[in-house]
Amino acid sequence: MKKKRVAILGSTGSIGKQTLDVLSAFKDDFEVIGLAAGSNIQLLVEQVKEHNPRFVSVKDAFLAQELKSILKNPSIEIFWNDVGLEFISSCSCDIVVNGLVGSLGLKPTISALSHGKRVAFANKETLVIAGNLIKDLLRKHHGEIIPLDSEHVAIHQCVNNSSKENIKRIILTASGGPFRTWSKDKIHAATKEQALKHPTWVMGQKITIDSATLMNKGLEIIEAMYLFDVNHSQVDVFIHPQSIMHSAVEFIDGNIIAQLGATDMKLPIQYSLYYPERKQLPFNLFCDLLAIQKLEFEKPDYEKFPCLRLAYDVARKGKSYPIVLNAANEIAVDLFLKEKISFGDIEKIILKAMDSHNATEPESLDEILEVDKETRQRVSELTNSAV
Ligand code: MN
Repeated sequence: MKKKRVAILGSTGSIGKQTLDVLSAFKDDFEVIGLAAGSNIQLLVEQVKEHNPRFVSVKDAFLAQELKSILKNPSIEIFWNDVGLEFISSCSCDIVVNGLVGSLGLKPTISALSHGKRVAFANKETLVIAGNLIKDLLRKHHGEIIPLDSEHVAIHQCVNNSSKENIKRIILTASGGPFRTWSKDKIHAATKEQALKHPTWVMGQKITIDSATLMNKGLEIIEAMYLFDVNHSQVDVFIHPQSIMHSAVEFIDGNIIAQLGATDMKLPIQYSLYYPERKQLPFNLFCDLLAIQKLEFEKPDYEKFPCLRLAYDVARKGKSYPIVLNAANEIAVDLFLKEKISFGDIEKIILKAMDSHNATEPESLDEILEVDKETRQRVSELTNSAV
């Protein structure tokens, strides 16, 4: 069988690195053709040497020059910035793995889908801010999105092409993050180190903070609405501290189908790359249910985790609100990671951004980007004065 050609956006991030681990184990089936990274040149050079892609992209022209002088390989084409991301996402590949973080992933997703590609999709923010636009592109150009987010990979397997009329609700599970058992006051004063200590998953920084506020689950509600064509009232969040049941689907006849497995992103990555085939797992990641013994479920505490409530509100209201929620959250998380605001300020910033927003109904990419930009400016002004 012909090898499938894979391009990875965000190759030096958490998803990118783990995708390359999976691809290293399946070199007979896949060939890496493009890698797009930001500024981690050292790791990118290692990846290029191991996987020998034809196209590489980095954050800016300066880094591109640096990479060129290190690699000294004229057969590798080097690109940079937005143009580079767009090139890699529409290059002669069969699968684009979108492991970018935040709204940065929007334009490359549009570019990949406009070229009818299969996108293995870990960039939930793109669906949150531009879900309708992405669905239009899927219809028009016959590309496809295969989820790579663990919960959505679970739901994808539970739905298993069953018609959407059969779905009563989706049960989206959340570990509850590091602050599940903490008091509200203690959560508000949490430090960066505490927030970055996720109990069950190893992930990038932004998503780990989102998991601590439960905003990650909020974004995933909206992601699920677009991926599986359900409305907000059909998505319930269950806290499940063991992170073994990755999500479930309840059907109209009362049957619930759940997906279980180890808490390692290599599982959903492998699923997404091979779908609809399945492949023997080359890693020791089998899930020992007898060792785990107990699976627990609880209702989320919206008092302690108001970001989840905010996301539900936004999922219900629609219009331009999801764009505002996402942009305000990206800025707030960035400020928290730079230790400029407290953990409790994150929700306050998002709430203020939402309250002072005049909703519109953006349809085009330009209109979406305009709301995103306007929100970022407004949030920066808000945070420069007192939070
Ligand atoms: Mn997830």
